[in-house]
Amino acid sequence: MRRFLFMMMTASLLTAASAQAQQANGKFHYSDERFADLQMLRYEVKDFDQLTLKQKTFIYYLQLAAMQGRDILFDQNGKYNLRIRYTLEKIYTDYQGDRTSAEFKALEVYLKRVWFSNGIHHHYGCEKFVPGFSEDFFRKAALSVGAGKYLKDICPVIFNPNLMQKRVNLAEGQDLVLTSASNYYDGVTQAEAEKFYGDMKDLSDPHPVMYGMNSRLVKDKKGKIVEKKWTSSTLYGPAIKQIVKYLQLARPYAEDAEQQAVIDKLVEFYNNGDLHTFDDYTILWAKNTKPLVDFVNCFTECYGDPLGLKCSWESIVNFKDLEATKRTQTLSENAQWFEDHSPVDARFKKDKVKGISAKVITAAILGGDLYPSTAIGINLPNSDWVRKEHGSKSVTIGNLTEAYNQAAKGNGFSDEFVIGKAEKDLMDKYADLTDDLHTDLHECLGHGSGKLLDGVDPDSLKAYGSTIEEARADLFGLYYLADPKMQELGLTPNGEAYKAQYYSYMMNGLMTQLVRINLGNNIEEAHMRNRALIAYWCYEKGKADRVVELVKIDGKTYVKVNDYVKLRELFGKLLAEIQRIKSEGDFKAAQALVETYAVKINPELHKEVLERYEKLNLAPYKGFINPVYTAVKDAKGNITDVKLSYTEGYAEQMLRYSRDYSTLPLINE
Ligand code: ZN
Repeated sequence: MRRFLFMMMTASLLTAASAQAQQANGKFHYSDERFADLQMLRYEVKDFDQLTLKQKTFIYYLQLAAMQGRDILFDQNGKYNLRIRYTLEKIYTDYQGDRTSAEFKALEVYLKRVWFSNGIHHHYGCEKFVPGFSEDFFRKAALSVGAGKYLKDICPVIFNPNLMQKRVNLAEGQDLVLTSASNYYDGVTQAEAEKFYGDMKDLSDPHPVMYGMNSRLVKDKKGKIVEKKWTSSTLYGPAIKQIVKYLQLARPYAEDAEQQAVIDKLVEFYNNGDLHTFDDYTILWAKNTKPLVDFVNCFTECYGDPLGLKCSWESIVNFKDLEATKRTQTLSENAQWFEDHSPVDARFKKDKVKGISAKVITAAILGGDLYPSTAIGINLPNSDWVRKEHGSKSVTIGNLTEAYNQAAKGNGFSDEFVIGKAEKDLMDKYADLTDDLHTDLHECLGHGSGKLLDGVDPDSLKAYGSTIEEARADLFGLYYLADPKMQELGLTPNGEAYKAQYYSYMMNGLMTQLVRINLGNNIEEAHMRNRALIAYWCYEKGKADRVVELVKIDGKTYVKVNDYVKLRELFGKLLAEIQRIKSEGDFKAAQALVETYAVKINPELHKEVLERYEKLNLAPYKGFINPVYTAVKDAKGNITDVKLSYTEGYAEQMLRYSRDYSTLPLINE
């Protein structure tokens, strides 16, 4: 499972700082080029220099293994993607005509989008791209560079809007398999696919494998439905052989024997395609928590299959961020203190509470379905019984969050929405820190605190349950951010840092999160409802004391926090009430809170916020350019060091990947 930027979007947008601050500490360039609805960013692999040569070498080979599956994902995302990419790239590099013409420029943007999506459909919305160039231009250009071989196959796919409209179609009432363009099924209907896997399932098996996760389901010549497995000797074999080769080169540099066993099991699975081997591999992987360096490299997530069975290929190589992990450990170790001192009624507190020590990691490379668009948190493995019986790893990818935050600085957002210099200064100084801390408190302590009274059904809040649960975790974090205990534990530098988070939280909940909602719509998503609930409840309850105000300056609305101490008291009060609702399963109270504060939007304010945001002209989607790793070798060919660079451009990187890591033929049947 992945935690997406969507959850954190507002937080990162709100990490405000001025353009001057960006220049002052902006040695690393987080933002790169922008096209269509996309902004390219870079992430810094901090403290790579601190690793041992063995660890660096391990990462070096693992990142090469992470490159080898790129073509698999292109092919998984659509039958014609590799042929289309090949033809577009050939035109892009070799075209001798007017490269400044509108049609050529449109082709360039189209190709950049295809690279970004690993195919011809939008990475998020799944709709097919509309080319801004004509079929006539495309055909002539392809022929002029000797790349006309696949025009017959790919022109209809690119130019006919009725063909392969959506990569993943989830619209009810249609045959989801036949109407989805992703390449996980061929000639098979939804009913046939469901029957095929339904028949395989043994409901009495307490340890069911993830049926269908590593194959394409097709009809053979006689019309029989069969799986074409993805293994080193079958479909996608050439790519998988390369992956295996680099995993084996990495193996001697693994950090312990258990990690070597993880690699061995993974290689075994790539070779035999047996789903029991896959489960064995994920169990070994989940238990292997000691090494600093870790990686994912396999068929992993099933968001690309409308039936949720087939897993797309992805890879990430990473190492623990020891500083940040210390932070979450400190919170975890003090979990009982926080539970005992929270403002909720003693009846709803846990006698014994255990904090979750979420690991913060530094991404070293992103590959497959994690590149260029990526998650900021990952929780694996996905098999329910493996998670229950053997545990899972939950990670936050610190340097990606940091890159989002840094890139948002100086984008004009805070200048537009933050009321004054004092607030901006506060956020410049402390927002990165308090934002991370709030997330840590939310994840490590908030969700785990409190208890249900005996006999209360955990599902009694029904549709309001997740909003209430998110509000509970957020309030726990907000309340404690301002607690002297945080300074005592060395987590905040002083007694005013928390104000940065208080201000940005209120501004977000009252106003700026509305930028993600279309005019006329209500707030639907649980995290957004939770933020509106907290912000509007505190705004209303603090009105008499003018704790928080919405003020108008030159026709623009701003949030003004007049009394941070009282605001904290309000957070505490609401936390107590929300915990009561949860502990008692008080559906009516949950419903009243959410419906009163968290669903409806003031249309005038909404319109104003959208108009102000629109003027900032920010790209709604972001993705990352990878760093480049170079091995330094001695005369005998031994690696003596691994160097990192961040200067490769987006197109340059994509063309290099296509040149060096084209591990599959263009047609994979
Ligand atoms: Zn949460």
